[in-house]
Amino acid sequence: MNLDAKAPSGELKDKWTKHKFESKLVNPANKRKFTVIVVGTGLAGGSAAATLAELGYNVLSFCIQDSPRRAHSIAAQGGINAAKNYPNDGDSVKRLFYDTIKGGDYRAREANVYRLAEVSNNIIDQMVSQGVPFAREYGGYLDNRSFGGSQVSRTFYARGQTGQQLLLGAYSGMMKMVSKGKIKMFNRREMMDLVTVNGKARGIIVRNLVTGELEKYAADAVLLCTGGYGNVYFLSTNAMTSNASAAWRCYKRGAAFANPCFTQIHPTCIPVHGDYQSKLTLMSESLRNDGRVWVPKKQGDTRKP
Ligand SMILES: Cc1cc2nc3c(=O)[nH]c(=O)nc-3n(C[C@H](O)[C@H](O)[C@H](O)COP(=O)(O)OP(=O)(O)OC[C@H]3O[C@@H](n4cnc5c(N)ncnc54)[C@H](O)[C@@H]3O)c2cc1C
Repeated sequence: MNLDAKAPSGELKDKWTKHKFESKLVNPANKRKFTVIVVGTGLAGGSAAATLAELGYNVLSFCIQDSPRRAHSIAAQGGINAAKNYPNDGDSVKRLFYDTIKGGDYRAREANVYRLAEVSNNIIDQMVSQGVPFAREYGGYLDNRSFGGSQVSRTFYARGQTGQQLLLGAYSGMMKMVSKGKIKMFNRREMMDLVTVNGKARGIIVRNLVTGELEKYAADAVLLCTGGYGNVYFLSTNAMTSNASAAWRCYKRGAAFANPCFTQIHPTCIPVHGDYQSKLTLMSESLRNDGRVWVPKKQGDTRKP
């Protein structure tokens, strides 16, 4: 297999800007002639579907759950990083890039991480405009906290339920375009296979989880936004639909699967303790660090918390 990351050429900081400038554009009047399939309605799929539809493309959106709002993104708690440097504590696009590369154990693709750091500020603006109620200081400015061991405060958050609030924002952006007829929503569908034409993804086969029937859908492009694969491990707090089923089917059609080591371990789990508990239960992340209150089991325990 030819391993080609297809990172754009040029200086690190210019790679994606240059690539975007050199890419062919689709005339606004022609966008309605193209259809894109988006599999998954979490933060990735929900926002991609909403944005593509806003741009004028026709979108077919699929998810396993009964509602897009039930994607596993809803479980995320802590917050989202952006290099806005609101607290003026020395943050910058370069520092967010540097910290992310280091935090990723030097395995992430530098060009893509740089792009992530570069657009991080726009993502916060987009979410605020979608109505996400990020925490604010008393003066009205968006609040930031220090998260994940970073030396600056750059995490935007909504109490302990950032993922839920972000997902509701993406969902309302999506539903606006559903009501305009630009997105067709197909819930309770599981992607069973990828259809390729001359090596390009052009469609999917899904099972209708209500009728049990197989259905086929064609498009000009397919986006796979099907989330994590935590359930490949024996123990996981992930929703049972975070099962790699869609990624596996694309792998069988020739796609490469990289870096399964990129799996987050949550240290605050309650083990399975009965027949009716299908998976580990995650305790609130606020029980760690600042939010933690240590209560000694035995009275008079002099150990430090
Ligand atoms: C407890 C927890 C806390 C977290 N905290 C943070 C945090 O503080 N900050 C941070 O940045 N990140 C955090 N994360 C990580 C982050 O939330 C996730 O990486 C992100 O939300 C994943 O979004 P997604 O859209 O890729 O996937 P998901 O939200 O999992 O969505 C996947 C979608 O794909 C669909 N799907 C899957 N397989 C199929 C199939 N075969 N056919 C059809 N549809 C399919 C599902 O139905 C679903 O709609 C946390 C994650 C968890 C679990």
